Amino acid sequence: MPRMKAAIFVEPGRIVLDEKPIPDIGPLDALIRITTTTICGTDIHILKGEYPVARGLTIGHEPVGVIEKLGSAVQGYREGQRVIAGAITPSGHSAACLCGCHSQDGAGTRHGWKPMGGWRFGNTIDGCQAEFVRVPDAMTNLAPVPDGLTDEQVLMCPDIMSTGFSGAESGRIRIGDTVAVFAQGPIGLCATAGARLIGATTIIAVESVPKRMEMARRMGADHVVDFTKADPVEEIRRLTDGRGVDVSIEALGRQETFEASLRVLRPGGTLSSLGVYSSDLKIPLDGFMAGLGDHTIRTTLCPGGKERMRRLMEVIASGRVDTRPLVTHRFKLDQIEEAYDLFGHQRDGVLKVAITP
Ligand SMILES: [Zn+2]
Repeated sequence: MPRMKAAIFVEPGRIVLDEKPIPDIGPLDALIRITTTTICGTDIHILKGEYPVARGLTIGHEPVGVIEKLGSAVQGYREGQRVIAGAITPSGHSAACLCGCHSQDGAGTRHGWKPMGGWRFGNTIDGCQAEFVRVPDAMTNLAPVPDGLTDEQVLMCPDIMSTGFSGAESGRIRIGDTVAVFAQGPIGLCATAGARLIGATTIIAVESVPKRMEMARRMGADHVVDFTKADPVEEIRRLTDGRGVDVSIEALGRQETFEASLRVLRPGGTLSSLGVYSSDLKIPLDGFMAGLGDHTIRTTLCPGGKERMRRLMEVIASGRVDTRPLVTHRFKLDQIEEAYDLFGHQRDGVLKVAITP
């Protein structure tokens, strides 16, 4: 059986480059030869053992590649075509999909709803930090890359841009809104860019890392609050003359940023939460206005599927957003352990790494 290189979860603290068989595909699948991929913050949670996955699983959920082989029932694509697939690969036919919640996918069982069922790559099936990946339900998930766009131009589409933009979309930002975005990691930066695209006219980013503060302005922030120098809640109230913001986007996943996101809202404002939390959240009584603030709290998992990917690549092709500056470091697949080390410790101003087999 032909073999390939892949980044494999061995045990908490260890993701190693090893060899495993090139995946077999079923009638509805496609085999993609990876040309570029990347490491996500979620992969670091997996590495640390904070998010459990099976031992031996290939990690990674952000594929850019070329169709190597199509399943016998797959129509509308050809081998050799350049494609991406979303980090979330919905089936398209589950109850959750047909309720419009593609990312949740899966189905309810007697024991309750299995959450996040649409997230399969590097979670419940082998992922794409490898030479090849099997894409399930290929006709729902493969999106051809428009001619003229490079791998790095579309590398943020599968997850970072889809997730970041969804923070702005779920917040239902309106033209002329004031928006706060807490944390300017890659997803927060894309939330900032998304808020500007939708029509927010005052965007306040909260961050303390100089390189990220600078990037926040580049992606559309009008003000950047360094939370190590000023209390962000007070600062945002000052910047809004006490009105508070229409929408706050939480892009970190911590108690303190969640609380601050709630406290800066105007009455009737929306907290759009993108963070991945690793413990119970407490809702502060004052920020929550004792439950009488007319607030909305929305959570979102990265939207996937080929139509989402097509739209995001169209945004890139239009030139309205350029995510290339987010790719700060480049590694070969052979060096992926080094890439994990750099990305996991956020050394050298890293935002995202590009990995090429
Ligand atoms: Zn991710």
